[in-house]
Amino acid sequence: MGGIVGIFDKGNINSAADAYYGLIALQHRGQQSAGIAINNEGVITCYKEMGLVGEVFDEKILNLLKGDMVLGHVRYSTSGQSFASNAQPLMVKYKNGSLALSHDGRLINAFDIRDQMEDQGMIFSTSIDSEVIAALIAKHYKGDIVSAILETVKIIKGSYALAIMTKDKLIGVRDGPGMRPLVLGRFDSGYILASESCAIDTIGGELIRDIKPGEIVVIDEKGIKSIPGNGKDPKKSCIFEYLYFARPDSIMDDIGIYKSREKAGRILAREQPAKADIVISVPDSGTPAGIGYANESGTPYSIGLIKNRYVGRSFIQPTQAMRELGVKLKLNPLKEYIKGKRVVMVDDSIVRGTTSKKIIQSLREAGAVEVHVRVSSPPVMNPCYFGIDTPSKKELVGSIKYVERIKDFIEADSLGYLSLEGLLESVGSEGEGFCTACFSGDYPMEI
Ligand code: AMP
Repeated sequence: MGGIVGIFDKGNINSAADAYYGLIALQHRGQQSAGIAINNEGVITCYKEMGLVGEVFDEKILNLLKGDMVLGHVRYSTSGQSFASNAQPLMVKYKNGSLALSHDGRLINAFDIRDQMEDQGMIFSTSIDSEVIAALIAKHYKGDIVSAILETVKIIKGSYALAIMTKDKLIGVRDGPGMRPLVLGRFDSGYILASESCAIDTIGGELIRDIKPGEIVVIDEKGIKSIPGNGKDPKKSCIFEYLYFARPDSIMDDIGIYKSREKAGRILAREQPAKADIVISVPDSGTPAGIGYANESGTPYSIGLIKNRYVGRSFIQPTQAMRELGVKLKLNPLKEYIKGKRVVMVDDSIVRGTTSKKIIQSLREAGAVEVHVRVSSPPVMNPCYFGIDTPSKKELVGSIKYVERIKDFIEADSLGYLSLEGLLESVGSEGEGFCTACFSGDYPMEI
């Protein structure tokens, strides 16, 4: 899991500032570490640290990062531990100088490749799968970087959106099924690659298009060149991006994230009606679906939970104890709106069940007479091996399978999930084009 940004802006030696704003816009994609690699006339240097973008970089540091080509990364670890040495962009030396790489996604055969390369005498300096990609590109470089990348993508399996910077090129790569997102944008004098279009908006650029599944895009002084994918893999974009992960103001593969979430809420209201006085949502990710649910059902929408904006995502705290405290720190009910009411509480997903259980408790303490939980996605039953941080099957409350038992576990008066068909309808699909493995178990490749 991560957010990536790459900027090619010939002559603008303050490009690092643009990358910084792009990373701030992508902060929701990873809060553990942040980094910027800068290219100054072919010389690449990198600054990265543990922490949020605003903690890692200040004006003084940004002023030292002069150059007109830049790569940025925010990271939340799903592979490798949470150490500074695992922060990205990664830098490797290869036959043509230095190469910097930002990766969002997760490889499923990184251990095997690494094992083989170590047997051949290769030394790795991090524990992340992304280093395997960088090492393979370096190994296969015979004078042409695109050929080296083409050789590499034949070997690696899994999900990846990559931004790669060499001394004279910025390159974007998206995995064959297009599991992880990557978009291309432009501004007056240059080009931007980013995980989400909200980063392009923030920098003041214009979205051109999504990098297509399997496509490689090369940006250099000559302009843009596209090398299409082999077209063998059916498209399987991650549906979790649409319902939870991406920012609602982003547009991904031509689908507006807010719009798809609002539609999911509307479909949910039709599939799982509830008699209630108000509809509330779990901020922020449940809000568009909550509004959709209220719009469709005619039950008034109300802000019911106030979020402390200075606490990170509750899920993201590593231990269960911290996670439970995290929910309390983060959300507080608006008592005068809740008291005496039958409440529909809409959230985008239930993973471990911790969030719902805690919120329901606090809504009852605030005087709610009934709490009906409605979820704008199906039960999360299977772990993700492609970059979304879902826990092992035994921690997934959805793998209990019986909705009735989950309802009892979270202590709701009723519980209703959106069907998979409903979720696919919300993104305009008739069943094709999306990885739904976390709900369906139908993985896009053999694990
Ligand atoms: P849980 O408390 O484990 O059931 O987590 C569910 C809550 O975490 C929901 O409110 C979601 O918005 C949010 N969530 C779902 N998936 C993730 C994820 N992969 N990382 C962080 N938060 C998540």
